[in-house]
Amino acid sequence: MFALTVKSNMDSAFFMGESEVKLKISWVNALFLTLTPVVGIAGAVLLWNEYGAPGMFEGAIFVSMYLACGLSITAGYHRLFAHRAYEGHWLAVLFYTVFAAGAFQNSVIEWCSDHRNHHKMVDTDNDPYNAKRGFWYSHMVWIMIVEDLHANDFSNVKDLQANKIIAWQHRNIFKIGVASGWLFPMAIGYLVGGIPYALSGFIWGGVIRTVAVHHGTFCVNSIAHIFGTQPYDDSNTSRDSWWVAFLTFGEGYHNFHHIFQADYRNGIRWYHFDPTKWLIKIFSIFGLATKLKKTPQHSIDIALLDMKITKSTRKLDERSIDSALYVEKMKNTRDDLRSAMYNLHKATNEKKEGANSEELAAKIIQLKQNIAAGQAEISSIFSDINNAKPISA
Ligand SMILES: [Zn+2]
Ligand SMILES: [Zn+2]
Repeated sequence: MFALTVKSNMDSAFFMGESEVKLKISWVNALFLTLTPVVGIAGAVLLWNEYGAPGMFEGAIFVSMYLACGLSITAGYHRLFAHRAYEGHWLAVLFYTVFAAGAFQNSVIEWCSDHRNHHKMVDTDNDPYNAKRGFWYSHMVWIMIVEDLHANDFSNVKDLQANKIIAWQHRNIFKIGVASGWLFPMAIGYLVGGIPYALSGFIWGGVIRTVAVHHGTFCVNSIAHIFGTQPYDDSNTSRDSWWVAFLTFGEGYHNFHHIFQADYRNGIRWYHFDPTKWLIKIFSIFGLATKLKKTPQHSIDIALLDMKITKSTRKLDERSIDSALYVEKMKNTRDDLRSAMYNLHKATNEKKEGANSEELAAKIIQLKQNIAAGQAEISSIFSDINNAKPISA
């Protein structure tokens, strides 16, 4: 999976559930993932012994490289390239491809091909980081083994292959990664204070930072499919969690992301911790990001309502209460709400575009009243469900 092509493989037996499946170990990736933390810790200890405790420079180079490489993965690889949630100026594309290469998570083409398969076939054997195979599998074991299911099948990323910068990055991924991820912080250190700072730049801005960005990204595939709530959809394992968002540049609002993957935001409220969304917004001020895609609010509200209806129906079934009447009422109210919300969305758009008739103003007031009535109605159905008694009791 990583920057080098896998040259040496060894057959290994690996147990999955009840069946024994033969898997090959990708030694290059396995060694890269296990040795980088060892080199990082050993380097930091040696530097401490030789030059004293880490200080301002180590903190600054670590944080700035962590932001450059980490955000290039989330805003670049993930939201721009994999999901096309906005359009990027070529300067932004160049920045992302150069600094994300330094995150050592392979090329745009490999990463996005895997990620599109993850969304399309989530939680199945065709999902490269299937969370149902356990925490460690989805976190990093999947990178250390070779399964031929999708190897070198890039038919789902033809749009990306057509981009010259992305194609150049794919051909030179390891060289670009070493230059931007390791040599660049080393050179900055050298300019700041000669050889000792160059070594600090390499260890703190290069190796330790590579490990930190790795596990930040890996958490999206592992813990964002284990911890948190499922307000939008519980038909897959993705979850929403503020603390996972905190560790992953905002990617922890993963339940929202799985249902509305083209949205440039993952945390949709202004107070949701989503630095990736903030970066894209800042880039848009300078023309580096354009055509930002945002899910209409009424679609989000209806998805939330649909999930509540599903959960309520399940609750009725679990308590052996005849759900048919409640389900019909919930569905009818939901359909009325959906069409009122959609019509209000259309009418407010017309108003924004300059239409200003009395008729339109009256229509907007009427639709808002219909929505308020629909929301009151659905709340009362939910409260009836909570108080309902089993028929047999
Ligand atoms: Zn995604
Ligand atoms: Zn996911």
